[in-house]
Amino acid sequence: MSELEIKQIPVLNDNYVYLAHCPETKQTAVVDPAVVGPVLDALKEAGWTLTHILNTHHHGDHTGGNLELKAETGCTIVGPRADRDRIPGIDIEVGDGDSYQLGNATATVFDVPGHTRGHIAFWFKGADALFCGDTLFVMGCGRLFEGTPAQMVNSLSKFDDLPGETRVYCAHEYTQSNGRFALTVEPQNDALVNLMKDVDAKRAKGIPTVPSTLAQERATNPFLRPSSADLQATVGLVGADIVDVFAEVRRLKDSF
Ligand code: ZN
Ligand code: FE
Repeated sequence: MSELEIKQIPVLNDNYVYLAHCPETKQTAVVDPAVVGPVLDALKEAGWTLTHILNTHHHGDHTGGNLELKAETGCTIVGPRADRDRIPGIDIEVGDGDSYQLGNATATVFDVPGHTRGHIAFWFKGADALFCGDTLFVMGCGRLFEGTPAQMVNSLSKFDDLPGETRVYCAHEYTQSNGRFALTVEPQNDALVNLMKDVDAKRAKGIPTVPSTLAQERATNPFLRPSSADLQATVGLVGADIVDVFAEVRRLKDSF
């Protein structure tokens, strides 16, 4: 059995909130609680008691439920040290390379600035789970509101050594529009073409496309593939620095 049981809660337009539960200690975290009601409902349905909030970054659609959930349950709020002033109710600050224990499961924390300057990701190795907030999406990445392309390339590179089977629990269902864009920059990528057929079929039935895996992202996500020769040719930057290629792909996506 995996070290964590994970439940996915779709909220708002396209957000995913996650419950992560250690079956041995019964500790339970909610990752990026945008809202309160659906989180309490999911906890009740699972029979779990909230002990932690894990925040990846300060945006309201990731922290909106913090204070009310803490008041309701007395849970501990864990968030980015680099952004402690913007995380409502933060109790424990974590940053790059830190470990954080949720029951018997250990998370490694990565600083992944780019979308926001204080964004972090939680990697639970023993559960093959990466909670990456708005840094990496299925076939996409977060917009660069507070960071540079070089920062985001460096942030994404922190996932390079993680196992391919790692499940990518991102915070939004942006997959279909990301994939449509990805096809414009790497139309010859068979893995991408095939994945989009699957994604379109799933979305037509309202089925989540999240989580994906890091192996899938490496094969299909243009923001992880700035060194792809086909992609470089499509954007007119053959042999260019990968940060410049990334920046151009991000620029094109911003106006897609
Ligand atoms: Zn965000
Ligand atoms: Fe978000």
